[in-house]
Amino acid sequence: MKTRYDIIVVGAGPAGSTAARYAAAGGASVLMLEKDRDVGYPVRCGEAVSHEGVIQFIQPDSKWIAATVTKFRLVAPNGKSVVPRLDGIGYVLERRIFDYELAKLAAEEGVEVVTKAYVYDLLKNDDGVVVGIRALIKDEKIDIPCKIVVAADGVESRVGKWAGIDTTCHIRDMESCAQMTISGINVEQDVLDFYFGDDVSPGGYLWVFPKGKNTANVGLGLSVEEAKKKSAIKFLREFIEKKFPNAAILTHIAGGVPCAKTCDRIVANNVILVGDAAHQVNPVSGGGIISGMIGGMIGGQVAAEAITKKDLSHLTEYEKRWQKRLGWRHEVFYNIKEAIASFSDDTLNSICDSALKLPEEKRTLGGIFRAALWNKPSMLMEVAKVFVS
Ligand SMILES: Cc1cc2nc3c(=O)[nH]c(=O)nc-3n(C[C@H](O)[C@H](O)[C@H](O)COP(=O)(O)OP(=O)(O)OC[C@H]3O[C@@H](n4cnc5c(N)ncnc54)[C@H](O)[C@@H]3O)c2cc1C
Repeated sequence: MKTRYDIIVVGAGPAGSTAARYAAAGGASVLMLEKDRDVGYPVRCGEAVSHEGVIQFIQPDSKWIAATVTKFRLVAPNGKSVVPRLDGIGYVLERRIFDYELAKLAAEEGVEVVTKAYVYDLLKNDDGVVVGIRALIKDEKIDIPCKIVVAADGVESRVGKWAGIDTTCHIRDMESCAQMTISGINVEQDVLDFYFGDDVSPGGYLWVFPKGKNTANVGLGLSVEEAKKKSAIKFLREFIEKKFPNAAILTHIAGGVPCAKTCDRIVANNVILVGDAAHQVNPVSGGGIISGMIGGMIGGQVAAEAITKKDLSHLTEYEKRWQKRLGWRHEVFYNIKEAIASFSDDTLNSICDSALKLPEEKRTLGGIFRAALWNKPSMLMEVAKVFVS
């Protein structure tokens, strides 16, 4: 390890590795610190991504693809289901290998990667300006100076707060998730299943994602407010007992997903936030792997430019580029999420019925939504209320 770096990235998840990779590719000296012993483990994720999203960063490789999916199926509360037309394919990842490969790509660009390195504070000068990090590396406390810190420390991010950024996620936007990887079950390997309704996941959805022969990730997310009434794990156990009574349970995980708009500020005091730490998650799907990598890429590029220009005020460019690329879209998705969360089981059933009446070529997500509005105009009011509030 050097004694100082241009950029230190805290956290080696998809957002951190991508930020580090692009910062190093832009000519900066980069150190990436990960608190866990292994990059990519433990996994707290349903692991679904689109092919289109992945190929922006890495060529698909069978070693980190557990299943290739060609369709998704929406199951209404009454059990009827619809398969919307999907242009393109998706993957269920082996994230422990995927994350590891992303870190390898960063290392190939010259990033130094250190695991078992817990960042416990920021180093500040007498004026309170961030000038490095303080870490516990293999049981030794070390202060490492740098010009820019990239906070890629995930949903429980603390680095942003230490820099003075408000990273609070409102409790109603924080999804409480539980997931089990189960085996010994009959599961189609090319379909992602999404179940809706008050019995399985009120205001959210439950997923069954194939994870290779006879195996699937089964999980659900619901708002923390709903989870106070009945926990995500309880809903999940009930579903698995009913649907897959003979399943062998291989893993249990729980975690939060910030289904919110991006934090108001993602740059301050020589620190930038990327990925879950910046709430760069698609608020409708809760997917944050690809959008976090996009945030990481933009953040890494802008950080390297700031180093080259010797002008750290250039970091504000990251906020602008993120907003233009995905931030604005997440704001629209946020309103859509609010609308969907407010749908009653009757509304969800009627959306499914309308979709089933559509010819197959018109069963796109947009087509389904339009047909549902047409067949149940009162739903328009539910959606409108959210958009004008
Ligand atoms: C149950 C569940 C299911 C999900 N399913 C999907 C899905 O199917 N598809 C999808 O796209 N997204 C999914 N997500 C969301 C997705 O997992 C996250 O959006 C994604 O992992 C965010 O990447 P990240 O790099 O920002 O953070 P993370 O992947 O969380 O990485 C952060 C890293 O920072 C490290 N770290 C934290 N603090 C410190 C510190 N102080 N010092 C050093 N290191 C530190 C952590 O150990 C971790 O390795 C799911 C999430 C959950 C909880």
